[in-house]
Parts: sequence; structure tokens; C-alpha cells
Amino acid sequence: MKLVILGPPGSGKGTVSEQLEREFHFLHVSAGELLRNEAAQKTEEGQKINALITVGKLVPPEIIVALVKEKVKSKRKYILDGFPRSVDQAEMIKDLSIDKVLYLDVPDELLVERFTGRRVCKQGHHSYHLKYLPPKKAGICDYDGSPLLQRSDDTPKAIKERLRIFHSETKPVIEYYRKKGLLMKIDGSPLPEIVAQNVKEILQKLDPKL
Ligand SMILES: [Zn+2]
Repeated sequence: MKLVILGPPGSGKGTVSEQLEREFHFLHVSAGELLRNEAAQKTEEGQKINALITVGKLVPPEIIVALVKEKVKSKRKYILDGFPRSVDQAEMIKDLSIDKVLYLDVPDELLVERFTGRRVCKQGHHSYHLKYLPPKKAGICDYDGSPLLQRSDDTPKAIKERLRIFHSETKPVIEYYRKKGLLMKIDGSPLPEIVAQNVKEILQKLDPKL
């Protein structure tokens, strides 16, 4: 089964993908991670990508598509996480014959709440949520006693801007897959662990031998 998972930042794509990887041995392919890994290589291609990323330029779709295709070559079970990001890229991976596109739908207000409530400990190893995953003692990490901080890009304004970019970028891709009959819209409002459980059940109905 070849899957794509799309959803706004904070929708739990990573959690769902990791669960599918752990339980059903899907290969979890994050295009962003592939790019970062490649950029860290000393090869000519790696250096080219690194230069683009460093100056904040977009990496040409051909490069990303080639990396993804190389990664999934001869694999029969994988999930592409947050990719394709444009109709161009979707067209360029037509030959992969994706089976289903999961779209985690979460209302913007809920995402804003998820991000603004997020706190990370000063050591940087542990994260919390004021409402959904509070520390035992307010403002203090349960594990190392360091103070909890809010990341500077977790303000409502910054989050709304990230969501605006996501929607304008992804809407055409979602439409593209809807027209092809591949889109499965999934309610991403519950906690990510619950959403992952729901996705697993849906996929097992599609293929009991998963
Ligand atoms: Zn900590």
C-alpha cells in the first residue's frame, strides 16, 4: 500500500506515520528530512541543496521528487509525509501509483490552541501542553526540573501565518487527489494517538492483510 499523508502543521502527521511504521512496517518518508540529510552530504548535489536552503531559496521540485523516488524505489509499502506539496510535484510522482491520500483535517482554531499551549523544557528534550499534557508542577519539567519555555514561533500570529501558507499551498493538491478519487478525509481533531488508531482501523478495512 502506497500512501500520502497531508495535513496542516500540528495535525499529527508525524505521529500517524510513526505508528504505521511501527505496527505495519510502512517506510516513513519525510521529504523535508530527505532534503536535510542530502544537504548534509559532501556530494555535489548535497552542496547544491545546502546552498539553496542556506539562503532560504526553494529547492527545485525535480530534486525533491528524485530523492523521494530513489528512497521508495522497489518498496511496496510506504507513506509520504507532507509530500507532494504542489500539483506539479503530484504530477511528477504519478508513476508511483499512490493508493490513498490521507488528509488530516483539523480546524485552524484548534491548531492555534495546540501550538500556543505548547511548552518545551529548557533542556529541549521534553514537551508539554498546558491543557492536554501539563507538567506535574506548573512551569517545571517533570524529568529534569528545568523551566518550561514557549517557542518564539508559537505565537498566534506566527501560527496563523504558517496555516495561511499551508492552506494556499495544499488546497490545490487536495483538490487534485479528490478529483482522482484517492482522497480520504480524516478527522484530525482528537488527540494524535486516537487519530492514529482510527487511521489504522480504516487501513485494515481496506486491506485486512496489512
Ligand atoms: Zn526536560
